[in-house]
Amino acid sequence: MKVKKDWLDQLSQIELPKSYFVAGQYAESKHTYPITNPATAEFMVNMSACDEQEVNQAVEFARTVFKSGVWSNLAPRERKQKLKKLAELIRENAEELALLETLNVGKPIQDSLNVDIPGAASCFEWYAESIDKIYDEIAPTSNDQLAMIRREPMGVVAAIVPWNFPLDLASWKLAPALATGNCVVLKPAEQSPFTALKLAQLAKQAGIPDGVLQVLTGLGHITGQALGRHPDIDCLVFTGSTETAKKFLVYSAESNMKPVWPETGGKSANIIFADADLDQALDKAIFGAFYNQGEVCSANSRILLEHSISQQFIEKFIEKAKNIKIGHPLDPNTQMGCLIDRQHADNVRHAIEQAKVQGAKDYVIPLNLDEDLDPTTYIAPTVLTGVTPEFRIFHQEVFGPVVSITTFETQEEAIELANNSIYGLAASIWTKDIQKAIILSKQLLVGTVSINTVDALDVSTPFGGYKQSGYGRDLSLHAIDKFTQLKTTWIQL
Ligand code: NAD
Repeated sequence: MKVKKDWLDQLSQIELPKSYFVAGQYAESKHTYPITNPATAEFMVNMSACDEQEVNQAVEFARTVFKSGVWSNLAPRERKQKLKKLAELIRENAEELALLETLNVGKPIQDSLNVDIPGAASCFEWYAESIDKIYDEIAPTSNDQLAMIRREPMGVVAAIVPWNFPLDLASWKLAPALATGNCVVLKPAEQSPFTALKLAQLAKQAGIPDGVLQVLTGLGHITGQALGRHPDIDCLVFTGSTETAKKFLVYSAESNMKPVWPETGGKSANIIFADADLDQALDKAIFGAFYNQGEVCSANSRILLEHSISQQFIEKFIEKAKNIKIGHPLDPNTQMGCLIDRQHADNVRHAIEQAKVQGAKDYVIPLNLDEDLDPTTYIAPTVLTGVTPEFRIFHQEVFGPVVSITTFETQEEAIELANNSIYGLAASIWTKDIQKAIILSKQLLVGTVSINTVDALDVSTPFGGYKQSGYGRDLSLHAIDKFTQLKTTWIQL
């Protein structure tokens, strides 16, 4: 296994990307913005920041390429071969991609290497394998008519993604969009463009034609807004905050009414009943709250505990949280890295302080950081107890390693607490009574219910939310609906 020094050596041998990717090549924008390493506060690069004109050029090129049919008219089997090749190249370049991901966002290198990068490769492979197995339809019309219902690609798709799982979430959009024959303009979050830029090069190497995948780096309110308002984009898929998603809905309404598919925030409840396997529930509750520094849209950031087990559970939970190894993201022993940037970490600290002012009791695990790390972006796992729906933290998506604990007495109360949120992304139920779990799962207003686990997720199952967690669905064959439109061709015989 590579140790921190090996990763630092590898870093000294690679050139960090700083150009955006348009028409099959890297290009320097007229504008730039600085990217620093969130773990160490070291400056890394001045990254290209595309302006409206650069966005327009990329969209125009995407349109030309789409119309040319070099990708959209390929037989699905041919697109499959190229996307499978891309998956293979992601695996071959896994170490470099993992390093780039960790440098940008401060997540542990072991997570980038073993979860994020293989996940992206599998996603491309899965959609590649699917696409030549999907059939169109013939409608049940009368015998002298033939009505064909075909799926056609949308055309030029914009994909806007956040920084918490940069390559994975980009792949969730790109794989089905490309498999169905679209041209995609991807805008990574300003904090985390490295892996998307490397992916563009790998896509070219895989034989995907120039202009089919372009990566525009830049700031949300400039590059993102220009894509959102562009009159020649046919569909926009978005993952990020609820607040930004609402802006994209306005951009669409004020431009060409492009469909906007939002995947947004969450405040997921982890409901633990007294009859659960508490050892398993404890381990998974730690994972659900603190994995990826808690920067997970479906993080189980509200633990709802049946009152009779609450004291015992909380004590054990804090003991387990103390064992999480916080450290340098490039150290393979690190289990929790830093937050994305100082501003976000300050917001998280502020949310904790506010909860304390409202009366929450907090347990913060002490931080012992090495000197080469920036303490302003690190936050230790924080457990807030005594939280009720009157607390702001009960409702607010904190997006950090902060979990609030609320107790309940009855099943009805548990469901009411869980559903008391503007969000509805995910929830977990822990009980050995599977009948109870299934009945309750139907009452939860969320996109995914995990029973006796947390945050269950697979490329084969749809992922998305109810309420203000958005209404798009990523993953599974259902994602194909976003990237295709139905055409009826009716023949009178
Ligand atoms: P964000 O909304 O700030 O940014 C997301 C993207 O939108 C970025 O690429 C950003 O540059 C762009 N953007 C920001 N402001 C913009 C504007 N005014 N106009 C156009 N584009 C703009 O979100 P974030 O902070 O990067 O990510 C965290 C959020 O993402 C959390 O709310 C989290 O719950 C959510 N998220 C949701 C899912 C899901 O699948 N539901 C998955 C991961 C993250």
